[in-house]
Amino acid sequence: MFCSSCKAPMLVIEYERIEIDHCISCGAIWLDSGELEILLEKSDIATKTQSVFERTEHVKEKRLRCPRCLTKMDKAWFNPEKSVLVDMCNNGHGIWLDRGELESMLGSGETGNRIKTMLAGIFSKKGSKLKGELE
Ligand SMILES: [Zn+2]
Ligand SMILES: [Zn+2]
Repeated sequence: MFCSSCKAPMLVIEYERIEIDHCISCGAIWLDSGELEILLEKSDIATKTQSVFERTEHVKEKRLRCPRCLTKMDKAWFNPEKSVLVDMCNNGHGIWLDRGELESMLGSGETGNRIKTMLAGIFSKKGSKLKGELE
């Protein structure tokens, strides 16, 4: 799979059976819809995914294409505070996060911190399992 933002090839990272697609070039992250739900369940965020995201048309950011179906994704606010703006596939494939957005979403709970450590480890190639590189 290639990055929707910078076109670099993306790596698959495994985190407790969740597959996270990560662009090591620009730091973007793709989460398939099912994987996102598991991740939110594991973190301190109690609310269900569907009620968390609020689609919006009032943003100027460039719209990216879904890496799965290549249709243009919608922008959606992740939280009521409107601090994290994500891209969402209209066909329900998942969500696209720019660098740092996943960390903002997950907050400072235990899961959030572990994922931050894991993502930081990718650049040093320690502490994470990189498919296609280590297998
Ligand atoms: Zn990228
Ligand atoms: Zn899609």
